[in-house]
Amino acid sequence: MSTDEKALRDWTGEEREELLELGHALFACPELGFQEKGSAAILTDFLKKHGISFEEGLSVTGIKASIGNKEGYHIALVADMDALEVRNGDKAYPFHSCGHSIQTAVMAYVLKRLKDQGIVEKTGGRVSVIGAPAVESIDFDTRRRLKEEGKIRYFSGKQDMISKGVFDDVDCVISMHINGDSGGPLFDINSTLAGFMVKKVIFHGKASHSGAAPHLGLNALHGASLAMDGIAYLKDQLPPEAGLKLHPVLTSCSGTVNVIPEQAVLETYIRANTLDYLLEAGEKFDRCVLHCGQALGIETEIQNTTGYMPFAQSAEITETVHRQMLRLCREDQIVKNVISGASGDIGDLGYLIPAVQFGFSGAEGQIHSARFSVGDEENAYFRTAQVAEETVAEILSDPKLQVKNPDFRKKKEFYLREWLGEQAGSCG
Ligand SMILES: [Zn+2]
Ligand SMILES: [Zn+2]
Repeated sequence: MSTDEKALRDWTGEEREELLELGHALFACPELGFQEKGSAAILTDFLKKHGISFEEGLSVTGIKASIGNKEGYHIALVADMDALEVRNGDKAYPFHSCGHSIQTAVMAYVLKRLKDQGIVEKTGGRVSVIGAPAVESIDFDTRRRLKEEGKIRYFSGKQDMISKGVFDDVDCVISMHINGDSGGPLFDINSTLAGFMVKKVIFHGKASHSGAAPHLGLNALHGASLAMDGIAYLKDQLPPEAGLKLHPVLTSCSGTVNVIPEQAVLETYIRANTLDYLLEAGEKFDRCVLHCGQALGIETEIQNTTGYMPFAQSAEITETVHRQMLRLCREDQIVKNVISGASGDIGDLGYLIPAVQFGFSGAEGQIHSARFSVGDEENAYFRTAQVAEETVAEILSDPKLQVKNPDFRKKKEFYLREWLGEQAGSCG
């Protein structure tokens, strides 16, 4: 019997049943971002039952549950709580099609097992589970309302929690995300996520009769059209590894066919693989649309909406996670270093705090669709829990593995000012 099998056999039948029950209860309670009240209640009931203390209502529905001391190394197990809206025929309804209920159940259960094992009593330090609301960028009407009511500052749960200091005492972050079908490789490590920002450009022209007196107007659409060309040429100005993706859309244009358009609106996401490239692309974009407008004497207004930062995983923690995976599976069952075009607010956390988000398989049907289900519960729940648990135990037991983060204050200052800053907009 290999170590892994032994470790997994240490799970009692009762524990296995309880984790699955928790996972199924959360899966059956899909709620959109910042509305995860039912999920929070399921989670707090579980924590109370096992005598784990917690704070609730963080960024509306978020939870922070901890074991251990205020001093010492602090590992946060971070889980998303929200569901998506899916459509089946005419019906649209909330559904856990991104598998976040699994993360929440597994992380909470890992905390319970670590408590049972008395891990922090042996090693010192602290372990928290942080359930974060609203990672999916959807349902902006609700988020706008919550912002107006003063309940949130930002449209992403982690961004809002970061701004409110929930992560200020955290030394490193371990998270996970379902990322593959049953029957394929079991895990993935060290993948990157792209970052993105959202731009809306309004070209302000002047209306006039397009036949009798076009020269008395100023065609806003000409400014937007010239800018579209300029933006297309920008794609050559960053190297391929930047992963620049720019697909502007003309979302509105005033006027009728006999009126010179007074206003044209161009909107785009800008995506890139690193923060430096993303910021560079943002600056180049601004320069381009501004000067294309100016070339024709058209006033240009740029509105920025904050997206998510690119995610680069901590190499040191990845190594520790990798070692735990190898106790459970072969090297060829682990996918490595995938450069993904997807994004998540774990990117923002990873910028501030050493973080990993490993992927695990077990999905059936398409992620983000109404057909999604968990096909391989052994992997999705038990192997992932084992990886997270052993990673925490190893890091707490060995100070050499405790990645330090001396620049947190400086990075957070930059982050709040330059990334979430009022001038840069504040909607995820
Ligand atoms: Zn998703
Ligand atoms: Zn997700």
